[in-house]
Amino acid sequence: MESLERLPNIVRLSERVVRVLGLNPSKFTLQGTNTYLIGKGQRKVLLDTGEGVPEYTSLLQSVLEKELAGSIISSVICSHWHHDHVGGVPDVMKFLASRNIHLNDPPASAADAESSTHSVGLVDLDASSVMPKVFKYPSPEHDDPETRFLEIADRQEIIVDDETTLVTLHTPGHTTDHCSFYLKEENTLFTADCVLGQGTAVFEDLSSYMKSLERQLTIGGNQPFKIYPGHGPVIEDGPAKIREYIAHRLDREKQILSVLTSSGGGSSNGSSIADSSISGVSSVKPNTGKTAMQIVAVVYEAYPPSLHPAAEHQVLLHLKKLEQDGKVRRGAAEEISDAVWEPIQQAQASL
Ligand SMILES: [Zn+2]
Repeated sequence: MESLERLPNIVRLSERVVRVLGLNPSKFTLQGTNTYLIGKGQRKVLLDTGEGVPEYTSLLQSVLEKELAGSIISSVICSHWHHDHVGGVPDVMKFLASRNIHLNDPPASAADAESSTHSVGLVDLDASSVMPKVFKYPSPEHDDPETRFLEIADRQEIIVDDETTLVTLHTPGHTTDHCSFYLKEENTLFTADCVLGQGTAVFEDLSSYMKSLERQLTIGGNQPFKIYPGHGPVIEDGPAKIREYIAHRLDREKQILSVLTSSGGGSSNGSSIADSSISGVSSVKPNTGKTAMQIVAVVYEAYPPSLHPAAEHQVLLHLKKLEQDGKVRRGAAEEISDAVWEPIQQAQASL
């Protein structure tokens, strides 16, 4: 596996963007979740919150006191419901509420007389913005009701300040609520978990995932753009990376279709797993289709069998997309893993 590039905990990426690591590195989160402070003026928006590692709020505090001294976080945006993106919300809200109130305190000499006002202090906050708002595209089955998420919608513009505008792009596939955000003034795209800085992204619905990738490609006209991903380093050539992702998936799709359309004997690959499992089907009738695991045995022949269950999951996601595209059909089965899939074109070869 590709070794992970070391990322600093805090780094300024541009005039408007500072990346703060979520401090939650793992096999699944790479160097940890990237969270981003976005904005040119005093008011910042925080995109994603990590998973709730206690040290993260201290790190955030130090950024707000040093690198971004005098700044406040007026809003938090969550890209999708996964724990490593929303898990930090309660801690962050608690921290910000007390910090914003503190910043909003009137000077001691005027405190008694002016205790009801919210317009004095280090930062000019109105009462409603003391408690930051949390925005998210809704996912009713996953969103914690304790967090009062304010809904964002596809194409919604989030005005951070006079010179910073984020455009919401609903990009489902990784999850149904997944959103990316386009920073208009800098022509950069925050892709969250749709495109990663290293490794490959996972998805729960390949069909919508591919549409989301295609859609991301169209952002910013034909101008090249940078990607600030949810995990891993900045991607300098965003469109090239997105095209690479699309090509990789289409290659896999072609492989799966070719296994399905190849002769049912399956003996050409020499794999004992493929031989035994595929011959069970082909002995009845050649080309009657294959189960996902029989496809895995061919496509993932070079991988150890211990990885085959995970590969089966991937192959099934591809098969479901191919089914939606009208390219394969699924035979009746109680469990999807028992279903036999056959190519539609092959079945209608005479047309
Ligand atoms: Zn995720």
